[in-house]
Amino acid sequence: MSEQEVFNPWEMAQAQLEAVADRIDLDPDIYKMLARPRRELILALPVRMDSGEVEVFTGYRVQHNFALGPTKGGIRYHPGVTLDEVRALSMWMTWKCSAMGLPFGGAKGGVTCQPKDMSQGELERMTRRYASELVAVIGQAVDIPAPDVNTNEQTMAWIMDTISMTKGFSVTGIVTGKPVDVGGSLGRPEATARGCLFAVQNLAGHIDMDLAGARVVIQGFGNAGGNAAWLFEEAGMKVIAVSDSRGAIHNERGLDTRAVLRHKALTGSVIGFSEAEELDPAELMTLDCEVLIPAALENAIGADLADRVSTRIVAEAANGPTTPDADAILFERGIHVIPDIVANAGGVTVSYFEWVQSLQSYFWDEDQVNEQLRSVMDRAVNHVWAVAQAEKSNLRTAAYMQAVARVARVQAMRGLFP
Ligand code: NAD
Repeated sequence: MSEQEVFNPWEMAQAQLEAVADRIDLDPDIYKMLARPRRELILALPVRMDSGEVEVFTGYRVQHNFALGPTKGGIRYHPGVTLDEVRALSMWMTWKCSAMGLPFGGAKGGVTCQPKDMSQGELERMTRRYASELVAVIGQAVDIPAPDVNTNEQTMAWIMDTISMTKGFSVTGIVTGKPVDVGGSLGRPEATARGCLFAVQNLAGHIDMDLAGARVVIQGFGNAGGNAAWLFEEAGMKVIAVSDSRGAIHNERGLDTRAVLRHKALTGSVIGFSEAEELDPAELMTLDCEVLIPAALENAIGADLADRVSTRIVAEAANGPTTPDADAILFERGIHVIPDIVANAGGVTVSYFEWVQSLQSYFWDEDQVNEQLRSVMDRAVNHVWAVAQAEKSNLRTAAYMQAVARVARVQAMRGLFP
C-alpha cells in the first residue's frame, strides 16, 4: 500500500454516509439508524494447533442493516482484521446490495489471523469453531456469509457442513461461494472480476473509449485480481503489470496472464515470473495505463498517489481502496472511478443467484449466470452514470446517493418497530 496517511475504514464509511445524507436530505432519524450496525458479535475462538497448544483467535460478525432482506457479506481471514474494518465492510455491503437492486442488507465477518502460517487442519478447526459460534446469528433467511480475502470455496464448504451438522440436515443456502458440487453456482469464482469487466465495458461506452488493446494494471492477484487479469486479457486488453503481497511484475508488451496464474499457483507469488521484469510495488500504481484495478485491500490510493496515477479509469475491485481525499483529486483530474459498491458487486450478485439456486435446488448453466450478471451490472452502471450526469458528481457519490436513498425509502415505508 502507499505510504500516506492510513484511514480508519469505519471513519471513512461514516464520513461517506454523512456526506450523502446531506446531499439527499436524508431524514435525521433514518440517518441515526443507518449510521450504526444493527448487530456486532465479537468472539474468542480457541483452536487446537498442530503443535498441541491452544491458540485463541478473535472473530467478528457485524450485521449492518436488514431493511432490504437478510444480510449478506464475506468472511475475511487476515492479521489486519479489526472490529472497525468489519463494521465498515458491513456498511459498504448494505450500499452495494442496494445499488445493485438485490434483496439483501449488508454484513461482514472476519478472524484476525495469519492464514498463510496455518496448516489446512488448523484452518479447518478454526473455521468450524467460528461457524459453530455463528449458528445463533446466521441463517439462509437471516445472514448469508461468502468468501473474502484469504477464504475460498473450501472455507464455505466447511461452514456449510458445520451448520448442517448442528441442524441435522443440509442447509445449502446458508453460505454462497460454495464449490459447485456442494450446491455452488457456476461462474461464482470469477463473478467479482467478470462484473468488474462488465462495469468497465459499460463505462467505456458512456465515455467513448475504445478498450481494444487498452493497458491494464492490477494490484492484488487473488480471487478478484487474478481472475480480472485473464478476463480483461480475454476481452482484448493488455495486462501490463500485476502485484501481490510479495511484489510486482511488469511487461509493457502485455503479460500472458494464464501463465502468471500458473506461476503463482506453483510458487505462491507472481514474482519470479520469467517473462516480466520485477517492479517496485510503489511504482505499479503510477504506471501509464488506461484501466487501473486496485484488487487488494483498503487505503491503496491516498491523496499523494491520486496526484500521480496515470489512467483513465480506476475500477475498484477491492473494497475501500481509495481514500476520500484521493477521490476528490481523481474527480478533479477527470479520472473516472467506478466505486467498489458497483465495480466489485459481481461477486454478491452471483452470490444472490447462488442463493436463489440453492433455495430452489434448481441450477442454471454458466451462460445464464453470466448473461444475468451482465444485465444487472449494465442496469446499475447506467443508473449511476445518469445520476452522476444529473448531479455533476463523481460516480461514487451518485452510487451512494441512489443506494442510501433506496434503503432509506424502504426503512421509512416499513416504519419503526414497535
Ligand atoms: P484474495 O485473498 O483472494 O486475494 C488478495 C490478493 O491481494 C492476494 O493476491 C494478496 O497477495 C494481495 N495483496 C495483499 N496485500 C497486498 C499489497 N499490499 N499489495 C499488493 N497485493 C496485495 O482476496 P480477494 O477475494 O481477491 O479480495 C480482494 C479484494 O476484493 C478485497 O478488498 C475484497 O473485499 C474484495 N472483494 C472480493 C470479492 C470476492 O468475491 N472474493 C467480492 C467483492 C470484493
